[in-house]
Amino acid sequence: MSLAKIGSLKVKLHREIKGTIKTCTIKREGDAWYVILACEVEHEHLEESQEAVGIDLGLLHFATLSTGETIENPRYSRKAEKRVARLQQALSGKKRGSHRRRKAVKQVAKLHQKVSNQRRDFLHKQSRKLVNTYGTLVLEELQPANMSKRPKPKQDGNGKYLPNGAAAKGGLNKSLVDAGWGMFQQFYTYKAANAGRQVLFVTPKYTSQVCSGCGTVVKKELSERWLSCECGTELDRDHNAAL
Ligand SMILES: [Zn+2]
Repeated sequence: MSLAKIGSLKVKLHREIKGTIKTCTIKREGDAWYVILACEVEHEHLEESQEAVGIDLGLLHFATLSTGETIENPRYSRKAEKRVARLQQALSGKKRGSHRRRKAVKQVAKLHQKVSNQRRDFLHKQSRKLVNTYGTLVLEELQPANMSKRPKPKQDGNGKYLPNGAAAKGGLNKSLVDAGWGMFQQFYTYKAANAGRQVLFVTPKYTSQVCSGCGTVVKKELSERWLSCECGTELDRDHNAAL
């Protein structure tokens, strides 16, 4: 490509350019340079779908659908975390301003970059799948204060901790970052708009307490993973919330 004041550049195209290019931005992240093109495109035409789906975002599963399907969290960060720790330790042993230290700093940044690219890719693919399949997507409004609530570890009679899903394993912040709920919502909202799909937001306030079968409020602790209602409804907590 050719740029004013810079001249001609070699560019690796990750995807075909569609529509009319409106703006061009050059960005640097670590050692990598990116060319970002914003294009005006025609609306995308997807096959019409009368199907609606409810989506519950969680920590145990990235998302649970009202169909009962789950989308699992990729734990890229978790895996990369060990490598980062090792690299960082190596870093601490190196002299400030040294060539070796600079090299190590670069390695850490590169790894972070890789994890963030993988996460973005995952979110794009999952949101694309949902938008292609369903005519209406129903989601919870994200409320950061609620999201960070986690079940307290419970003790059994012998003072041992009982397993309760998201708790105890630690690194909740990491999970939140890993999950990238906000980015996910952003991705499917614009994909849906572009494809003429409907997106509805509901308050998640009672979705985990109200029985999806009869509407009764069934009080539960955050640690309870199962909903049992007098009406006979027996469901996984997240599946119930999605419904
Ligand atoms: Zn019920």
